[in-house]
Amino acid sequence: MLRYGTRRRGTPACRTDFSVNEAPGPRSRSGYRSLRRPYPNRERDMIDHRRLGRDLGLFTSDPLAGAGLPLWLPAGAAARHAVEEYLRDLERQAGYQHVVTPPLGRRELFERSGHLDHFAEEMFPPMRLSADDELVLRPSLCPHHALVYRCRGRSWRDLPLRIAEMGGMYRAERSGVLGGLARVRAISLNDAHNFCALEQVGAEVAEILRLIRVAHAALGVRPAGFRLSLRGPGQRYVGEEDDWARAEELLRAALDGVEYTEDVGAAAFYGPKIDIQVEDAAGREWTLSTVQLDFDKPERFDLSYIDSGGARRRPVLVHRSLVGSMERLFSYLIEVHEGAFPVWYAPVQLVVLPVAAAQDGAADEVVAAARAAGLRAEVDRSGSLGGRIRDAAQARIPYVAVVGPREAAAGHVSLRLRDGQHLAPLPAADALALVARVVATRSPKLLPPG
Ligand SMILES: [Zn+2]
Repeated sequence: MLRYGTRRRGTPACRTDFSVNEAPGPRSRSGYRSLRRPYPNRERDMIDHRRLGRDLGLFTSDPLAGAGLPLWLPAGAAARHAVEEYLRDLERQAGYQHVVTPPLGRRELFERSGHLDHFAEEMFPPMRLSADDELVLRPSLCPHHALVYRCRGRSWRDLPLRIAEMGGMYRAERSGVLGGLARVRAISLNDAHNFCALEQVGAEVAEILRLIRVAHAALGVRPAGFRLSLRGPGQRYVGEEDDWARAEELLRAALDGVEYTEDVGAAAFYGPKIDIQVEDAAGREWTLSTVQLDFDKPERFDLSYIDSGGARRRPVLVHRSLVGSMERLFSYLIEVHEGAFPVWYAPVQLVVLPVAAAQDGAADEVVAAARAAGLRAEVDRSGSLGGRIRDAAQARIPYVAVVGPREAAAGHVSLRLRDGQHLAPLPAADALALVARVVATRSPKLLPPG
């Protein structure tokens, strides 16, 4: 079994989120290495999500809880929830249906899926409740989603059926390789399984790639490259030769207009796939987003639908993740933004600073109005004004609203932006509307357009 940090070939079940290539390697120099690198002129050693995560109070870990099991602190949880809500909305608008399934299941489920045959060493040992009752922490969500598919009869009218979940899964990583959020044992995956007829695969994958680009733009993800993994000689694959040829052709067509590399022999044994790589501050490439075709699981779970002529047919399964796991995504976002997230998922979007105790009431009113408008706002009255402004800058808070005697009397605030800009005093309601507009448009900038 190949381990993390090596190239995986012929991986037998859905491996969303897992492949990591230590860059620079000979293969990764080609093609997509020419795209813009996310850390152009920086001391990479200074950008480490573990250090930033601690300094910004995003997450922590405790030996008593266990390695690879980070605790998301209020600031990290606020940012993560904003991202999760965004992804759910994006998926809902694109016709996905969300489900909730448990992070563990009977041993037999993972025998059926093939995970126990192929990945047992990367799974936690089964929990034995009695001689014929063993539970397993799941290593992926596909088995449960296959059961969702077959919980009732399906017809061609149901397809493509897009089953999505931000779901928990587990991986028995060795303690030596765990670190921060990048390598963890408990994983929350942005996952979906799209069941479709073979002739729908091209349009479905093209739409998935569009969603991936939309999500990347909103989050500030800068892809290092797209990779199409195909069959190679001397390996065993499931499925019909004709279906593979058609599927590879459809994936190529879906990538039309995208710069990508082809990796012959890197397909999973169950189907070809497209991976979208990002590069972390240490120069390693990770798979963040993935689209994987699967001819195997529909067979294993005997999935079918009735086509328009009344015949029973097998659907194709497309595993896809727009942005991978929340853990790995945030390890990347923390580094690429150096903690200064776009306003829409900044943990605190606005901090209000009364200059003196006499403005406490006015500051509280601004915070209450901001929260009523759906913004994440706090008041800070501890210490000198200069000290509080420095604290806000250190916390990468996008907006600081200062309320002095003149502002309080007029119902105004003086707005200072994270990039150093100061705005002339303006009505508090206008300042909140400005922030709300930047949030609503998910702009990477601090001022709304126009
Ligand atoms: Zn899957």
